Amino acid sequence: MSFPELAFLENLLEGLGSAARTEKVASIPFGGEIFPIYTVAFGSTDPEAPTLAIVGGVHGQEKIGAQVALSYLESLSELVRWDKLTNLALERSRVVFMPIVNPVGTRLLRRGNGNRVDLMRNAPAVSPIPAAFLLGGQRISPYMPWYQGPPGAPMEVESQALCDFMRKEVLSSRCSIAVDCHSGYGNIDRLWFPYSHTVKPYPDLGEAYALNNLLDSTYPNHVYRMEPSSQGYTISGDLWDYLYEEHRKLHGREKRFFPVTLEMGSWTWLKKNPVQILSAMGAFNPMNTHRHRRILRRHMTLLDFFHRAVMAPEAWAFAEEDTAKELRGAAENYWFGDDL
Ligand SMILES: [Zn+2]
Repeated sequence: MSFPELAFLENLLEGLGSAARTEKVASIPFGGEIFPIYTVAFGSTDPEAPTLAIVGGVHGQEKIGAQVALSYLESLSELVRWDKLTNLALERSRVVFMPIVNPVGTRLLRRGNGNRVDLMRNAPAVSPIPAAFLLGGQRISPYMPWYQGPPGAPMEVESQALCDFMRKEVLSSRCSIAVDCHSGYGNIDRLWFPYSHTVKPYPDLGEAYALNNLLDSTYPNHVYRMEPSSQGYTISGDLWDYLYEEHRKLHGREKRFFPVTLEMGSWTWLKKNPVQILSAMGAFNPMNTHRHRRILRRHMTLLDFFHRAVMAPEAWAFAEEDTAKELRGAAENYWFGDDL
């Protein structure tokens, strides 16, 4: 089974040769066909090397997420052929991709996977605190939105593949950022960091604040609002909360794992053009609109910034105790104000 994003990815993988480590990590049977999940890894194989992970296509109907991931993958695939700066960086860092986590959903323009499970609500809950009714996740029926899967069932193949990939390529890094590209909430582009299962601040709030300041000072005209994802809404079974907690239990404050969801504000454009895709992507060029080209290039600087940030963690993470306390206080004031 193929669809434009998958065909585009397979075409890229074919051209990569030995420039990257590529793998088919799962095959999902659906409707008598097989849908593959691929991963790509560039750069250092040192488990501790600074790592940037780019994830897309968790929610199938948010195709632009997979497209942004693929667009960055396309440029990086080209840069490793000639750009010395990129290759120097990759000697001591790693950039990894799972650009289409939910191929069945992406093919069907469906949020959930083939079983109608919302993968972003499919992880074992890290806390019993009830999330927002329905929107926060429900185990009542696959025919209602935000379905988390049957009670007590193991994770879906796609969620499990994503977690396994993070464990293999990302969680062992001394400093890593994982960017999960979504769309559909509001009119501005948000960068959501944990937690999403609770409105309480998470342990790395000070680092999030320092990273936000670094982004502000480096790119003063950037378009993003960075905030805890619970300031959008709370959910149960969030994969990033789950992985973040797993990492924290394993590594405490020795290593940093900063998962962030790029939530592209799409209320103005998603409805207009859900299927006219890949306009900036070479051969797959059905509707070459300015809007698509603009969105596909809009986030490249941000992803480069995150690559630089994992390579220079001293600029925003691992602060000495006094500074860390100050940052934490400023961060609580900035994001939570009187709510704490
Ligand atoms: Zn989404």
